[in-house]
Amino acid sequence: MADPQGFLKTRERELPTRRPVPVRIRDWKEVYEEQELGQLQRQAGRCMDCGIPFCHSGCPLGNLIPEWNDLAWKGDWREAIERLHATNNFPEFTGRLCPAPCETACVLGINQPAVTIKQVEVTTIERAFDSGYVQPQAPERLSGKTVAVVGSGPAGLAAAQQLTRAGHTVAVYERADKPGGLLRYGIPEFKMEKSVLDRRIAQMEAEGTRFRSGVAVGEDVTGRQLRDRYDAVVLAIGATVPRDLPVPGRELDGVMQAMDFLPPANRAALGEAVEGQVTAEGKDVIVIGGGDTGADCIGTSHRQGARSVTSLEIMPQPGEERVTGQPWPTYPMLFRVASAHEEGGERLYAVSTKEILGEDGKVSGIRVVDVQRGDHGFDEVEGTERVLPAQLVLLAMGFLGPEKPGVVEQLEVELDERSNVKRDKDYMSSVPGVFVAGDAGRGQSLIVWAIAEGRSAAAGVDRFLTGQTALPRPINPNDRPLVV
Ligand SMILES: Cc1cc2nc3c(=O)[nH]c(=O)nc-3n(C[C@H](O)[C@H](O)[C@H](O)COP(=O)(O)OP(=O)(O)OC[C@H]3O[C@@H](n4cnc5c(N)ncnc54)[C@H](O)[C@@H]3O)c2cc1C
Ligand code: SF4
Repeated sequence: MADPQGFLKTRERELPTRRPVPVRIRDWKEVYEEQELGQLQRQAGRCMDCGIPFCHSGCPLGNLIPEWNDLAWKGDWREAIERLHATNNFPEFTGRLCPAPCETACVLGINQPAVTIKQVEVTTIERAFDSGYVQPQAPERLSGKTVAVVGSGPAGLAAAQQLTRAGHTVAVYERADKPGGLLRYGIPEFKMEKSVLDRRIAQMEAEGTRFRSGVAVGEDVTGRQLRDRYDAVVLAIGATVPRDLPVPGRELDGVMQAMDFLPPANRAALGEAVEGQVTAEGKDVIVIGGGDTGADCIGTSHRQGARSVTSLEIMPQPGEERVTGQPWPTYPMLFRVASAHEEGGERLYAVSTKEILGEDGKVSGIRVVDVQRGDHGFDEVEGTERVLPAQLVLLAMGFLGPEKPGVVEQLEVELDERSNVKRDKDYMSSVPGVFVAGDAGRGQSLIVWAIAEGRSAAAGVDRFLTGQTALPRPINPNDRPLVV
C-alpha cells in the first residue's frame, strides 16, 4: 500500500500548472508545465489501496492503479511501468488525453478530492522513457501467420503491438501519410505533441510491426485482396462519418466540418506547407458542438488569431456537482473547463441553430434561438432569436460510424443497427477472419476504449490463428461505461 496516512496528510488534489494563457496561445506546445516530483509522489501516496478498488472498473483497460500508485510513491519507476504496461500499451496517450473515468470512480473521491491517477500515469511512463526502461519487446519466435491491420489509430496500434509481440507478422495500413489516426491529425499538438506518438511508433517498428502509410485500403488495394493475402484482417478504420447540420445556409463558404479544419491546422502547426488552408485568423468563429472536438477547434482558433470564438451546445449547462441520477462511481456530466476553454471565448448552452446567413456566398452569421427540453425534444424559447456574427462556422457534432464505400463494402461485412461494423464476442465480423476494433465497431468513443478494444480484438485474432490465446481481453464488445 502507498503511504498509510497519505490521504490524511495530503488532503488537497495537486496537479501541474498550465502555462499562462497569453504565452501558450502563441505556440502549439503542450499546455502543462512539469510537476515537482515530490508533489506528484505525495499525490500517489494518497491512494488508499482499497479492498475493492473501484478505479479498476472505472478504467476500461482495468489498469492496476493502486499497485502503480504504491510503486510511484516509493519511486520504483521501473516496477511501476511494468505494472502499467501490463494493462495499457500506450499510457503516454491516455495519461495526457483520457477523461479519467478512474478518478470519478476513486473511493477517496467519495469525501475528498480523488487521487490524481492520470497524472501519476503520465509521469510514470515519461520517467520510464527518460530512464531507458521502455525497450522494444520483439517476439522470441514467429508464428508464420500474417495479419493486416487497417487503420493506425489507438485501436489499430494496440492490436498491432499485441499481435506482433505474440509472434505474428503484422502490417498496419494507413491512408494518411503517417500513422497515428486521430492522435496524429485530429488531436492538436497542444494536447499531445506528435513526438510522443513517433517515439512509440519507433518502438513498434523495432519490435517488427510494419507500417504501410499512404495506402488507402479500398482504393490502392481492395479489401478482398487484403483478405486473400493475409491470414487475418483487423478493421480499425475509426468512425469518420461526421454528423451534419441540415439547416438553410449549410452550403455557404466558411461552414465546414471540424475534421476538415483540424488536420490542416495540425499540419501547419508542425511546419508543413498546406495548400488552401482555411484558418480562423481575424474571424469571428462559431463552433457548434461542445465535446473534445469542439474544444480542439476552440484552442486551434485562438492560436490562429481568431477575433472571437463562441461555442454552442444544445444541451443545458451541466452543474459543478454530481446530480442524484449520476452517483459515485459513475462518470458524471459536469461543467468542465478544458485548457482550451480557459484560453478565452464564450460557451453558450441550450441554444439551437436555425439558419446560417451569408453574403456573396460566404457565411456572415448564424441565427440561433434558446431552447428548453419539451415533451418531443427541444422547444424554442420565445423572444430569444438572435444573430451571431461569424465568418467561420465549425461543425463538431459527433460522428456516425465508419465510411461504408471502400473496404467495408468490398469485404461485405454486416453492420449493426447503429451502422457500425457488427462483431461477435471475439471481435470477428460476419466475414470469417475479418475482425473489427475501436470506433469502427463501438461507434465514436475514447482513446482508452480504443486501446482496450485493440487489445481485446488481438486476443480474438490470436485465438483464430492458433486455436488458443494467452493475450488479455480487458473488455467485451458490448461493455459500456459505468452508468446507473
Ligand atoms: C478532434 C478529436 C479530438 C478528440 N479528443 C479526444 C481526447 O482528448 N481524448 C479521448 O479519449 N478521445 C478523444 N477523441 C476520440 C478518439 O480520438 C477516438 O475515439 C479514437 O482515436 C478512436 O480510435 P480508432 O483507432 O478506433 O480510430 P481513429 O483514431 O479514428 O483511426 C482510424 C484510422 O484509420 C484510417 N483509415 C480509415 N479508413 C482507412 C482505409 N480505408 N485505409 C487505410 N486507413 C484507413 C484513418 O485514416 C485513421 O488514421 C477525439 C476525437 C476527435 C475527432
Ligand atoms: S487510462 Fe484513463 S481511466 Fe485508465 S487509469 Fe489512465 S486515466 Fe484512468
